[in-house]
Amino acid sequence: MNDYVNEILENVKKKNAHEPEYLQAVDEVLTTIKPIIERHPEYKQLGILERMTEPERIISFRVTWVDDNGKIQVNRGYRVQYNGLIGPYKGGLRFDKSVNQSIMKFLGFEQIFKNALTGLPIGGAKGGSDFDPKGKSDMEIMRFCQSFMTELQRHIGPDIDVPAGDIGVGAREIGYLYGQYRRIRDRYDGGVLTGKGLEYGGSLVRTEATGYGLIYFMREMLKANGGLIFEGKTVTISGSGNVAIYACEKAQMLGAKVVAMSDSAGCIYDQNGIDLDTVKRIKEVERGRIKDYLKTHPDAQYIERKTEDSPIWEIKTDIALPCATQNEVTLNSAKKLVANGVIAIGEGANMPCEKEATDYFLEHNVLVAPAKAANAGGVATSAIEMSQNSMRYYLSFEQVDKMLDAIMVNIFNSLCEACANYDLGTNYVAGANIAAFTKLAKAMMAQGII
Ligand code: NDP
Repeated sequence: MNDYVNEILENVKKKNAHEPEYLQAVDEVLTTIKPIIERHPEYKQLGILERMTEPERIISFRVTWVDDNGKIQVNRGYRVQYNGLIGPYKGGLRFDKSVNQSIMKFLGFEQIFKNALTGLPIGGAKGGSDFDPKGKSDMEIMRFCQSFMTELQRHIGPDIDVPAGDIGVGAREIGYLYGQYRRIRDRYDGGVLTGKGLEYGGSLVRTEATGYGLIYFMREMLKANGGLIFEGKTVTISGSGNVAIYACEKAQMLGAKVVAMSDSAGCIYDQNGIDLDTVKRIKEVERGRIKDYLKTHPDAQYIERKTEDSPIWEIKTDIALPCATQNEVTLNSAKKLVANGVIAIGEGANMPCEKEATDYFLEHNVLVAPAKAANAGGVATSAIEMSQNSMRYYLSFEQVDKMLDAIMVNIFNSLCEACANYDLGTNYVAGANIAAFTKLAKAMMAQGII
């Protein structure tokens, strides 16, 4: 039966030869689900893998806008509606100059598994643009968002497809996108986007959800492995965006000492523990660089990034949380982390570890909390935002936080169950793929050949 998996992998490679990130994501999932295919020969008969590796729809469009100098700019927009088996398509929008079809497809593919793990009725999608928000004025950001939504609105809706934020798309961008959607559609469709401001339909805890959820998941994973706890542990966190900031906040609340954070240019190391209020001011208010931290904390160190390997992974730590972007932990970095005694990796970002890096961690008995499970708190809370919009009702911070915590505990338990079922020990990476795949395959079989 493994021949079937290998044959599908070969076909996917041929068909998507120029999409390395997409191939990496598919390869990781298909390699780890081989034991399920062995047990379920009917999956081959029904072409489950062929269908699971082909997006239902890929939309690509031109986004034209005018910059502050009156110059016409053209970017490319995307929405990959990967799979709507278990609910409306759902997944974030990424604005970053690196965005291309391969990255959109890999993120959409990851999203279908992640959303299945939440246990909530949401399908998987991803979108975005190669627009680079760095250095753009507020008005340029607004004009770009309006032009992007003018096209995207044809394809989305509260029961069709519900985008949210991702890299380069935060509360400001969601506000502009929502405003343009409302202007064109001229109706209340609060649930069409999530991550909205609290004044117009957003949910409490959505801002914190991915980072908090990551720490709730890690808390469970540590507890299940010898009763480990965050208190007293040293933590390093890459990135200083939405996921990184709130992972830091919750880790500190649980008594961990976060000593380093980063952005794409370099990292800061503060042996006294990161002062998160300063990072929040720099990143959320001033939209500055992480290096600016030294202006108020001269005792901290700034280490510039000079190669593909981020300097943050050279810092000795008990727990490392990659919360910036894909493939940011190379095999080299993994070796340094292991040599420095790391005990656990928590993937806040999507696919942050190169495949070889993940394998290296697992071979060296480092616990790995896989992104599909560990960062699912963001999309789960987005689903809770959608429910509140449908109910025309708001839940309190405590209520949503409690729901988020319970969802992360459930996700961890479903991984443990899959690991036990397939004799995988603590390989939660395989456990996540197996738990999610099982659910999607069942839904696919139930819905006939479509
Ligand atoms: P933000 O835009 O808020 O922050 C991204 C952070 O990562 C910034 O500090 C950025 O630095 C850094 N970064 C971006 N590209 C690179 C790079 N090539 N090398 C090193 N650092 C980089 O994004 P989010 O925090 O929302 O997202 C971070 C990750 O988490 C992404 O992988 C995203 O897909 C994932 N995720 C996000 C969710 C959410 O709810 N927001 C939900 C689930 C997953 P700089 O400013 O220099 O670019």
